[in-house]
Amino acid sequence: MQKIEIDDVTIERFMVGLLETNSYLLTSEDAAILIDPGFAEDELVDRVEAFKDLKTKTVLLTHGHFDHTGYCPRLQKAGWRVGIHTEDKFLLNRVPGDFDDLGYRDEPFEPYITLREGVCYNIGSLSLDVIHTPGHSPGSVCLLDLKKRIAFTGDTLFADSIGRSDLRGGDYDTLMESLKKLTSLLEPDTLILSGHGGRAQFKVVRRINRYL
Ligand SMILES: [Zn+2]
Ligand SMILES: [Zn+2]
Repeated sequence: MQKIEIDDVTIERFMVGLLETNSYLLTSEDAAILIDPGFAEDELVDRVEAFKDLKTKTVLLTHGHFDHTGYCPRLQKAGWRVGIHTEDKFLLNRVPGDFDDLGYRDEPFEPYITLREGVCYNIGSLSLDVIHTPGHSPGSVCLLDLKKRIAFTGDTLFADSIGRSDLRGGDYDTLMESLKKLTSLLEPDTLILSGHGGRAQFKVVRRINRYL
């Protein structure tokens, strides 16, 4: 687990599942936001349990692939409100056959919140704007706080690569358009926290990522 402090918000990063998905837990005094809770692994579950009495507990999904959503049914039962973009709802609860033996349990759930471009989710002094960035999947979103220079980019942008566009509903040209839109918003010192792999400042990403 890696930890970053931004003013009054703590961001913990957990790497979960065989696909090593990054789950990010953001906490402030009275709220918690969990981004992409892919699998209910012990370390993450223990941390999440510690917040069970908080009133405001929100899960924000960067997209609907199972390696980002697997822990959601349990979380929703435990009082977390799960949000996803409408266009990725069709991906929920569909685990590709190749991944059957990961121990993933395909449990239906209905997300509570619809993520839309322009809507913003606050925690402490952080304010995460939803930016719709289709291409990896139709309802992929990034969550940005441009003032605090932080960007959760899901599987749209990794430090040294980009997400696949050959999965259901993916499209390469659309992904390229989304990357243009996303990168036009980012300052060089914005910290990129992606769905897989390590973190990096955007100026480093620009240098090492051949897709940009
Ligand atoms: Zn994905
Ligand atoms: Zn992923």
